[in-house]
Amino acid sequence: MENNNSFGNFSGNNNKNSQPKKKFSFYWIYVILTAIFLGSLFFNGSSPAEEIDKGKLITLLRDRDVEKIDLVNGEIAEIYLNDSGISKYFPNDKGNGFGNIPNYTLRIGSVERFEQDIEAAQEGVEQPIYPHVVKRHNWGSEIISWVLPIVLIFGFWFLIIRMMGRNGGAGGGQIFNIGKSQAKLYDNASDVKVTFKDVAGLEEAKEEVVEVVDFLKNPKKYTKLGGKIPKGVLLVGPPGTGKTLLAKSVAGEANVPFFSISGSDFVEMFVGVGASRVRDLFKQAKEKSPSIIFIDEIDAIGRARSKSPMSGGNDERESTLNQLLTEMDGFGTNSGVIVIAATNRADILDKALMRAGRFDRQIYVELPDLIGRKEIFEVHMRNLKLANDVDRDFLAKQTPGFSGADIANVCNEAALIAARRNKESIEKQDFLDAIDRIVGGLEKKNKVITDSEKKVIAFHEAGHATTSWLLEFAHPLVKVTIVPRGKALGAAWYLPNERHITTKEQMYHEMIATLGGRAAEQLIFGHISTGALSDLEKVTKQATAMVAYYGLDERIGNRSYYDSSGQQDYALTKPFSEKTAEIIDEQVSEIIERAYQEALKILGENIDGLTQLANKLIDKEVVFGDDLEKIFGKRPWTDENNVNLTEKDANLTGNDSQEDEESEESK
Ligand code: ADP
Ligand code: ZN
Repeated sequence: MENNNSFGNFSGNNNKNSQPKKKFSFYWIYVILTAIFLGSLFFNGSSPAEEIDKGKLITLLRDRDVEKIDLVNGEIAEIYLNDSGISKYFPNDKGNGFGNIPNYTLRIGSVERFEQDIEAAQEGVEQPIYPHVVKRHNWGSEIISWVLPIVLIFGFWFLIIRMMGRNGGAGGGQIFNIGKSQAKLYDNASDVKVTFKDVAGLEEAKEEVVEVVDFLKNPKKYTKLGGKIPKGVLLVGPPGTGKTLLAKSVAGEANVPFFSISGSDFVEMFVGVGASRVRDLFKQAKEKSPSIIFIDEIDAIGRARSKSPMSGGNDERESTLNQLLTEMDGFGTNSGVIVIAATNRADILDKALMRAGRFDRQIYVELPDLIGRKEIFEVHMRNLKLANDVDRDFLAKQTPGFSGADIANVCNEAALIAARRNKESIEKQDFLDAIDRIVGGLEKKNKVITDSEKKVIAFHEAGHATTSWLLEFAHPLVKVTIVPRGKALGAAWYLPNERHITTKEQMYHEMIATLGGRAAEQLIFGHISTGALSDLEKVTKQATAMVAYYGLDERIGNRSYYDSSGQQDYALTKPFSEKTAEIIDEQVSEIIERAYQEALKILGENIDGLTQLANKLIDKEVVFGDDLEKIFGKRPWTDENNVNLTEKDANLTGNDSQEDEESEESK
């Protein structure tokens, strides 16, 4: 009975209330199936009658106690007794044997043998009894053999759909919802309220979106004069810089519903799903207008539609994009729906998206600068219990290149570290350790490194440290370590001053310092290792940029082959001739080789200091700027915006490691 209930629940309308829908479990299908199966087994031929053997039947026949014999499906003989038989064998049970219930059953092997036996038993008897051949359907098992495969197929299908629904995020297992938008709605009811107060820095971006808020609040003010309200705003910037936060704060300030979806949510394995999701999203947004649709990572669908038939486009993505364009064109300017999209790759977006009337406003959201970082620290420190020694200015200085998300992470990590140390409040050192950890990953204390490997790593890092210390324009070193962290075996941290333009000398000196690691290996051990992979990658990129992009090479001259539109397909065509390509290659090699020789020269002249430093590293594993000063003396150049770091304060900023990604230090 329970099964029936839930089955009805399943086939009936389950959207009346959400409670049974949630409760419904697919395991019920298995329960129902098992019940049917067991039931069919039970009804399958096992009647309540007593089973007898052939001998007994022959006796019955001889005594003429049998009324009739039904031969069912050639398998079972059902024996009905006549009155005398019943009074003999069932004296208390007069009714039995009449109607449908046989008195006895007998399983038979072969029909022919059975018939022969019956004839033999009744030899010479008048009116012998012959078995009636009866064909009976076994509905139970027949239905099962039909229904089971169908149920299984459907069950399987449901399962797959459900799994896909889960992967797609919200929605759950409804097949009928596959074309529905998966957008998450934040409206007045939901308590997530983000306002401009929560967004630190980003002053210019905020100024731009303030206007959007105003549009949504009083559209009449603008349409009165015949102006059109923008339909789309595109936020462009690196990940974690607060694009989502900004969009949310617009919704929070304007007090309108906010639909949030990621570009990749549109793309499913079913053809046409993306387009119908776009349609559904816009329909929902219009119903709630004024409202904001936020599409994160719009490049997932908005990538330039492929031009060449050779590369084989992605039809599903294109039709999704087309639908998006149609919807954006379709809704009137006064419909009160504004689309905010975010991407970190505006260059690969389809030009049709940027056309006027679509995303005609682009707002650049940059990585925060010193002041921005300080403000972000302030926002995220609001809810933290801080010790008195926490200095926001200092922390902001220690985190160049960090995004807002990184800083939020630092604050959280610091709180966790302080908690682990059973502190009452979060101290400066906890923040520094958190920064360490976020830049370099977890310390891998148990990574097995042999002594000879350790020596190579120490000299490599000492090479970086020495060269950068002795070069005027290289970033001054803060700390160098050979404690493996993350994937890196060792690292040297520099304090980059945030410069907006970089001179040729600065780039060149940085390259020398980057090659200093390998040069030290060459100088000390006479052979080089694979440990310099990321150094070489960095240097090659830098040299190529110098020659081909920044026009810093005499032979190429004031030319840049950089393509900011990102539309060029360099695989097929180069914007320069073969000859120029050769010159670029030659110049890149020349610059790198020159830098390498320079590194060898510097290290050769300071081989004592290098060895001293490397030994100190092997000994202590971590060496600070102070120690370098003791070995090489003070740097004669003063960096204008350089903080003087004591050993305790010293911390990493910018990272140069053997295998890990390096932080970008020069733009
Ligand atoms: P994006 O969308 O650009 O990838 P998010 O907006 O999702 O980045 O930012 C992630 C988190 O980083 C935010 O939830 C917030 O905690 C923090 N964050 C980023 N930028 C800022 C900022 N300017 N002010 C305050 N917090 C920020
Ligand atoms: Zn290195």
